Parts: sequence; structure tokens; C-alpha cells
Amino acid sequence: MPIGVVVSGADPVASLEKVRSLGLSTCQMSVPPQSWWSEKRIELIKKAVQEKGVRISSLICGFEGESYRDIATIKRTVGLLNPSMREERVKKVFLFSDLAKRLEVKVLQAHIGFIPEEKDSSDYKGMVEAVQRIADCCRKNGQFFALETGQEPAKVLLGFIEDVARENLKVNFDPANMLLYDADDPIKALEILGKYVVGVHCKDGKRPEKKGELGKEHPLGEGEVGIERFIAKLKEIGYEGPLTIEREISDEKRWKEDILRAKELLEKLR
Ligand code: MG
Repeated sequence: MPIGVVVSGADPVASLEKVRSLGLSTCQMSVPPQSWWSEKRIELIKKAVQEKGVRISSLICGFEGESYRDIATIKRTVGLLNPSMREERVKKVFLFSDLAKRLEVKVLQAHIGFIPEEKDSSDYKGMVEAVQRIADCCRKNGQFFALETGQEPAKVLLGFIEDVARENLKVNFDPANMLLYDADDPIKALEILGKYVVGVHCKDGKRPEKKGELGKEHPLGEGEVGIERFIAKLKEIGYEGPLTIEREISDEKRWKEDILRAKELLEKLR
């Protein structure tokens, strides 16, 4: 299991250099902005991948107007739940998938938003149909489409995956999200979703103190995930993909320190 890190796609070449400077060989990258989609700049990114020896294991889809401020805002703004934005965003993902193909990246992943528990609701049906169309586009481009976990219990996500019924629909498993959203037990959830997992986030966090609020992210090893148990479980299910460290703080100096400490911890456990 190679160790990697989640980085920004705002300047892909600079991000690849940053990954290498941290001594890591793989990363997940947010989809680069359109200013990077020209033939010339795609070649620059591919050249940097070669020269720096850093693989981009997945591209992470994001959409304009998304905010993770609180649960209500997430429901309204994130992913494909809000029907007023759904169609436009599905078409965006088609473009992201084409971009990933040009970059030779085999996994496209996203937070699609809270999956509704009521299977009869128009929102649930709308999300199933949207993800079917996205998965079909990714399949044509030779890719997996991976859903990031944690905003709903594993069983709800599993039911959704079965309803979408597309072989290239997979999971990027984030154990901390399970706690931040107070959705499930990360280790039990991994057991339920194991066969779909093509990527993981090594992130830590604690459950919210009050119901209905968001929990807090912590440096790896300092939250409630139980990273030893998490890595042991990954081995048990036969996972061999990258261990991608995710740390969502804006202080660059602390970010680097936390990534390096997480790397050290994972090197001992993997
Ligand atoms: Mg994550």
C-alpha cells in the first residue's frame, strides 16, 4: 500500500512537486481548473508525473457553490442531492471524466451529497439516475467512479450502490467522515463496503458533541478512528491500493507537519 496525499489541482505541477518533496509517490488531486485543460498544459502535467515519479491515483470532483459549513448547508450545496443543480453538475462530471482520460487517471471520485434514506423519494431516484449516467460515462473512458463515504451509514450507501447497479461504481472510503457526520462505526462500515473500496482517505476525527452538528477533524492518530484497527482491517479485506492522507486545514506549515507525521505513522502500520 503506497502512501499518498490529497492535494489541490489549482496548480497541478506545483502540487506534484509538493508531493515529491514530502517523500510520497502518489496523490489524489482535485480536478484542475479549465485553464489547465489545453493540450499544452495537459502535456506539462503528464511530464511532471513522469519526472517527479508521482502517480495521480484519482481526480476529485468539486462543484462551484459547495460549502461544508454545517449539515443544512451541505445538504443544500454539496454534490448531486439538490435537484436544481443536478443536471448541470452531471454534465460537469462528464467533462471531468474526459479530462481524467486525457491525464490517464483511472478513478474519478466525488462527494455526491447525503443519500436520502427514503428509496421512494424523487431525490433518491434522481440521484440513482444521475450516478448511473456518470458511471456509464466513466466506463466508456475506462474509469471507476468512486463515491466518498461518510455522510450516510454504510448500509444506506451499499443499498444505493446496488440500486445504481453499475460495475465500475466504487467507494473511496474515508473513515473520519463516518465520525464527523456521526453516520456509522468506521471499522464496521469498512467491512460492509470492503469489496467496493478502490481508494481510502487516511484521515482522523471525532464525533460531534451535540447531535446534528459536525464533528471535528484531527491529525492522524489523534482522533477516534483507531488508525491501527483501520489499517489492519484494510489488510484483512485484501486492500492493496494507496493510503491517501487527507488533512483539511489551511495553515500550510501545520499541514506539512501533520502529513509528515501521518506518513511516519502509516509506514509503521502498513
Ligand atoms: Mg475525505
